[in-house]
Amino acid sequence: MNIHEYQGKQIFRDAGVNVPNGQVALTPDEAVEVAKTLNSEVYVVKAQIHAGGRGKAGGVKIAKNYDEVRAFAEELLGSTLITHQNGPDGTEVRRLLIEEGCDIKDEYYISFVVDRATNRVVLMGSEEGGMDIEEVAEKTPEKIFKEVVDPATGLLPFQARRLAFNINIPTELINKAAKLLLSLYDVFVEKDCSIVEINPLVTTGDGDVMALDAKLNFDENALYRQKEVLELRDFDEEDPKEIEASKFDLSYIALDGNIGCMVNGAGLAMATMDTINHFGGKPANFLDVGGGATAEKVTEAFKLILSDENVEGIFVNIFGGIMRCDVIAEGVVEAVHNVGLEIPLVVRLEGTNVDKGKEILRESGLAITPASTMAEGAQKIIALLDESK
Ligand code: ADP
Ligand code: MG
Repeated sequence: MNIHEYQGKQIFRDAGVNVPNGQVALTPDEAVEVAKTLNSEVYVVKAQIHAGGRGKAGGVKIAKNYDEVRAFAEELLGSTLITHQNGPDGTEVRRLLIEEGCDIKDEYYISFVVDRATNRVVLMGSEEGGMDIEEVAEKTPEKIFKEVVDPATGLLPFQARRLAFNINIPTELINKAAKLLLSLYDVFVEKDCSIVEINPLVTTGDGDVMALDAKLNFDENALYRQKEVLELRDFDEEDPKEIEASKFDLSYIALDGNIGCMVNGAGLAMATMDTINHFGGKPANFLDVGGGATAEKVTEAFKLILSDENVEGIFVNIFGGIMRCDVIAEGVVEAVHNVGLEIPLVVRLEGTNVDKGKEILRESGLAITPASTMAEGAQKIIALLDESK
């Protein structure tokens, strides 16, 4: 789960990580109100969307007085910001962060991530702040430094100082930077983050070190114990279909193809998408209905797939293990009755009670095309789509 920069900065503030003063604003009036509470000569008006790259896209404005704050707020609110991170459709700006302008001396990059290779939390840093870290990693990998954290001890002060030293933070500021990194590690652990990224971390004209940006991602498996974090969720920033899916405990990710897929188990879902791609088709989604799919869940899954207007055909690929094929077949038949299906549907069932399942599909009288293997199913749905063109 993702949160906004202003929310991330509040978490930082509470944990003693230095950030500029500022607050969220939902209207131009509020933006001016917030600016009036700030003790600064310039104000920064920042679009709050769940994507980075706002600076380059025109989503970060420097205002010299209250009138400019209002003008930038009017310009940004309601506008659509397209950055290199949020795709061609962009995101509508509904919230702003108004904060004190900072006298930046140098920009650095800092992040904590979970490294699957070492099974450890890793602190990464670079003196190339404000840039795309992927680009730095590609062009000048020697400018990225890492500290692997031992979970038994947590980030140690010498590691924090070593990283600050490696990324060329001036000697007199190394202790301040190290203190910030140690607090940041506490945030990462206490809030069950999967990523904490500051790009840029800056040194200032008056000798301070602070976070000018804040990106936090949270491990969704831990959200049950992070009630405060969960309250920060902004549904406006999420795909409505994915929100609907999570209500029914379905794992759904929208993609840009035209073949809707309904599969049980993440591995099988991936294999199904690969198979469709292999035969020249394009999946419209990843959808895992899970091990214990009920008829109701299958119906919801169908509705979800059909709510995507790009979907021109559906491929159901279910392995009945714990889940029995006859139950799935009943669910499919019921769902088709409920939602009314006007596009081709290919169903491949395998596993427990498969014969009974196939019989239910056959006797339903519905236009369901059966398939006996995953490859056959993928080829059949692709052929049916070709025919209908
Ligand atoms: P994004 O990563 O989405 O582009 P940032 O928050 O990193 O957004 O802001 C982009 C750039 O804008 C920063 O690299 C920094 O140079 C500048 N900036 C951001 N906040 C401030 C601020 N409070 N004061 C001065 N400059 C800022
Ligand atoms: Mg940034």
